[in-house]
Amino acid sequence: GRGPIGVIGIDDDRTGPLLTPDQRRLLDALVDQGALAIERVLLVEDMDRVKRTVESDRLRGALLTSISHDLKTPLASVLGSASALRDLGVNLSDAQKHDLLATVIDESERLNRFIANLLDMTKLESGAIVPNTARHDVGEIVGSALRRASKILVHHRVSLELAADLPMLELDAVLFEQVLFNLLDNAAKYAPSDTTISIRGARDRDTIALQILDEGNGIPAAELESVFDKFYRAEKGDHVRPGTGLGLAISRGFVEAMRGTIAAANRADRSGAVITIRLPIPADTNALDTAA
Ligand code: ATP
Ligand code: MG
Repeated sequence: GRGPIGVIGIDDDRTGPLLTPDQRRLLDALVDQGALAIERVLLVEDMDRVKRTVESDRLRGALLTSISHDLKTPLASVLGSASALRDLGVNLSDAQKHDLLATVIDESERLNRFIANLLDMTKLESGAIVPNTARHDVGEIVGSALRRASKILVHHRVSLELAADLPMLELDAVLFEQVLFNLLDNAAKYAPSDTTISIRGARDRDTIALQILDEGNGIPAAELESVFDKFYRAEKGDHVRPGTGLGLAISRGFVEAMRGTIAAANRADRSGAVITIRLPIPADTNALDTAA
C-alpha cells in the first residue's frame, strides 16, 4: 500500500525453472502476507511517534503557559515590592516596610517551590531519581513535613492520627517529606480556611496506609486519576488558585520510586478529598514489631 518495503530473492543450483506454478502462487501469498505484517508494524510505529510528538508539544505548551504565569506573577510582585522599598523607603512606616518585605519573601518562596518542582519533574523523567532508602519512622517524617508546611497551614487545624504500632518503613526521607509537603500544600490550598486537615496512618495487612483528608469540595469523580498527570489541574472557572499541576505528578513519581502507590478519592463521611499512600512493610520486619 505504501510502496516497496523489501526485496526477496530465490536461488537454486539446479537449472530449469525455479518454481512450479503452485510454488509460485504459494510464494506470492507468503510475500503478500509478510509485506502486510511489516507494513502494519511500521504504521503502528509511525502512529506512536506522532502520538509522542503531539504529547510533547502539548507538554511544551503547558510548560510555557505555566512558566509565563507561575514565574511572571511572583517575579512581578517581588520587583514591585523591592522597587517600592527602594523608592519610598524613607516615607514608609515600619508596618508598610514589613508588609513589602513579607511579600518579597513569600513570593520568592513560591518561585523557589515552582523551580524545585520543575527540577524534580525533569529528574523523574530522565530517570535520575534513585531513592536513597533506609529504615525510617513514618511519624518522624510526617513531623518534619508538618514543620516545613507550618506557614502554609496557619489557617487550618491539623489532626494527626497515627497508629501506635506502625513499623519502620524503607523510605527515602527527603522524597517522602516532599510528597507529604505537596499533599499538605494541596489540602491547605483547596480546602477553606478554618477547616481540619487530618493525617491518618494505619497498618493494612502487609502495607502501611497513610491518608491526608481535607474538608474542601473534593476532586470531581471523573478526574481522580488525571489529577496525577503532569500539568493537570482540575479547577476551572474564574476562581482558580495558583499552581502548576505538578505537585501530584511528582508525588506519584516519588512514591512509586519507593515501591508504593498513591491514589485520590473523595471522603465518604463528608465532602473533601482523601489521598492515600500505601507503602510495603519490609518483609523482615520481625514478629515483635508486628505484635507490638
Ligand atoms: P502545584 O502542586 O504544581 O503547585 P496544583 O496544586 O494545581 O499545582 P497538583 O498538586 O498536581 O497541582 O494537583 C492537581 C489538581 O488536582 C489541582 O489543580 C486540583 O484541581 C486538584 N486537587 C489536588 N488536591 C486537591 C484537594 N485536596 N482537593 C481538591 N482538589 C485537589
Ligand atoms: Mg499542588
